Amino acid sequence: MMGTEVSVYLWSDDEEAGLAALEAVFQEADRIDRLMSTYKDDSEITKINLGAAAAPVRSGEELFGLIARSLEISVLTQGAFDITYESVGQHYDFRKHQRPDVATVQSELENINYRYVEIDNVTRSVSFRRDGVRINLGGIAKGYVVERGISILRASGIENAIVTAGGDSRLLGDRRGRPWMVGIRDPRKDGEVAISVPLQDEAISTSGDYERYFDEDGVRYHHIIHPGTGTPASGVHSATVFGPDAVTTDALSTSVFVMGVDKGMRMIAALPDYESIVIDANGRVFYSDGLEQPGKPAAD
Ligand code: ADP
Ligand code: MG
Repeated sequence: MMGTEVSVYLWSDDEEAGLAALEAVFQEADRIDRLMSTYKDDSEITKINLGAAAAPVRSGEELFGLIARSLEISVLTQGAFDITYESVGQHYDFRKHQRPDVATVQSELENINYRYVEIDNVTRSVSFRRDGVRINLGGIAKGYVVERGISILRASGIENAIVTAGGDSRLLGDRRGRPWMVGIRDPRKDGEVAISVPLQDEAISTSGDYERYFDEDGVRYHHIIHPGTGTPASGVHSATVFGPDAVTTDALSTSVFVMGVDKGMRMIAALPDYESIVIDANGRVFYSDGLEQPGKPAAD
């Protein structure tokens, strides 16, 4: 979905029930993709993008809820997370190595500001305060798929599972008596793991500049846009966030990537349930305060 892979591992004593649960999660991912993909002409989000500057567009509860959550996270991250990044983002095609020219970036930059998105909780409608604004939930929708997937598995009686969509995962229970080991990829060595983290009953999201990108004249053009410049954020190679809820870890990993090590870690420090590991552009690894650093004795 949305250009990435959804995967599910689970334990079940009943093979048929286990396979049915898997299938239910994939169907749910498809359903959410149809609702939230900007590549589909008839998706709810496309209707908003095409109509919301002219008149308020009513939307379904789920999409509306995710847009509202995105706007809250924009406030929390002081605008680092901003679904209107799409005003510029729509001009990229990473597969075709296409990017907007400087003039396009400059003019579309005027359309990036989450405050241009107005929501009405009573009518559940969305409007744009400005012509040309576009939104995209690519930085938060996969976390939502993961949360929905875990809920479906739980409701089917599954107690040990992992659901992944792109860089976002949530673990249900443990790995039958041991914690799940989740690898954070080495951002510059394909297929290699830089750090393994033992986790259970938790969500973990990684945003990296190696997921969707192309290199041109020594510059990496990737899919995480700094809303202040309208160009790919630099300074970080990958940002990982873990905590109780995959929707939040998804949005926050994108945010920490944009904010950089200092600002990002300061924000995470203010959120007691969330921790972060950042690998910067020099390959240095930073851990948020709540984590014990490997090799360092724990404080008494
Ligand atoms: P992944 O897609 O690899 O899981 P992310 O969760 O970081 O990685 O999501 C990146 C996606 O977020 C981009 O493909 C784009 O759709 C969206 N995005 C890019 N920049 C921003 C931003 N500043 N704020 C919100 N969403 C963004
Ligand atoms: Mg994200």
